[in-house]
Amino acid sequence: MKALQRRVIRGGFEALYFSGAHHLMRPLVGGLGAILTIHHVRPPRAGRFQPNRLLELRPRFLRRVVRWLRRSHVDIVSIDEMYRRMREQDVRKRFVVFTIDDGYRDTLEWAYPILKKHDVPFTLYVPTSFPDGLGELWWLALEAVVARSKRIVLLVDGKERAFDCAKVADKHHVFEQLYGWLRSFKTEEKLREVVRDLAGRYQVDVAAFCRELCMSWDELATLAADPLVTIGAHTVNHVMLGKVPEKTARAEMEMSRTVIESALGKRPEHLSYPVGDRASAGPREFRIAAELGFKTAVTTRPGVIFPEHRHHMMALPRISLNGEHQQLRYVRVLLSGAATAMWNGFRRVDAA
Ligand SMILES: [Zn+2]
Repeated sequence: MKALQRRVIRGGFEALYFSGAHHLMRPLVGGLGAILTIHHVRPPRAGRFQPNRLLELRPRFLRRVVRWLRRSHVDIVSIDEMYRRMREQDVRKRFVVFTIDDGYRDTLEWAYPILKKHDVPFTLYVPTSFPDGLGELWWLALEAVVARSKRIVLLVDGKERAFDCAKVADKHHVFEQLYGWLRSFKTEEKLREVVRDLAGRYQVDVAAFCRELCMSWDELATLAADPLVTIGAHTVNHVMLGKVPEKTARAEMEMSRTVIESALGKRPEHLSYPVGDRASAGPREFRIAAELGFKTAVTTRPGVIFPEHRHHMMALPRISLNGEHQQLRYVRVLLSGAATAMWNGFRRVDAA
């Protein structure tokens, strides 16, 4: 299923690119610019079972994207500069904003040297439990459980179910099923409970991923000291805010800002909703973010930025650089706005 989905997506991109349609469409659907989303930047790892690979870019690909943008007629700007341009309706030149989510150590090791060399400002959204060493990177724990097991037994909706996953193809299938099932839970609590239970039963140390992969506060301080870097909030526990009570959602956003301010000395003015899809961030979260006084808040709803987003700064779309599609031509199509315009049915703003 996923393979087919990938082929369809790729086919669509190729059609838009090679027909030149993206080029023709850009004046209509390209908007003012775009905000790019990155998670990991690091050399590829060995192994055929890496279901989270879509969150991972090769350093060489990031370098190509940056060099291409530097040659193009766009400004690479900080999120504050984007905010200023939108408020003042300064639309002389198209812009691109780089954002990196989660604060993985590979940001410091791989992404930062590339961005620094090309003088690229970027925003890093940090869930504060990660540098505290307490984050639960449950999607990686799930990957590890499936990777290490030949057979997984667990309770699904009160019934015991077994999943065979000895072969790589089965592993992909089982991961997708379990991932989809976890994401469909109405509450974040239930998701965490199931993953903790699974990890416990299959000897996976959930906390180890955080210690191994995430930057410490000292490492974050190194980045925060660079004027190129803006540190943004990304909640405390990286929860899907739409799946927790309002009081918790507000506390997650507010507390993360306070913790970052006390650790790094600067109060974050920008927010990224964890996971950031419709189930994680909707009108309630947009309202809370506005009430808390954030200047901007980004989702993962796909899209480019239009002048109308000036009135929806708490519901900004982004364009994800996907590890499954590391080709410059996909980035061209995405930044033209053509692919996301079709995805969004040519609706410019989606803040509902
Ligand atoms: Zn995140």
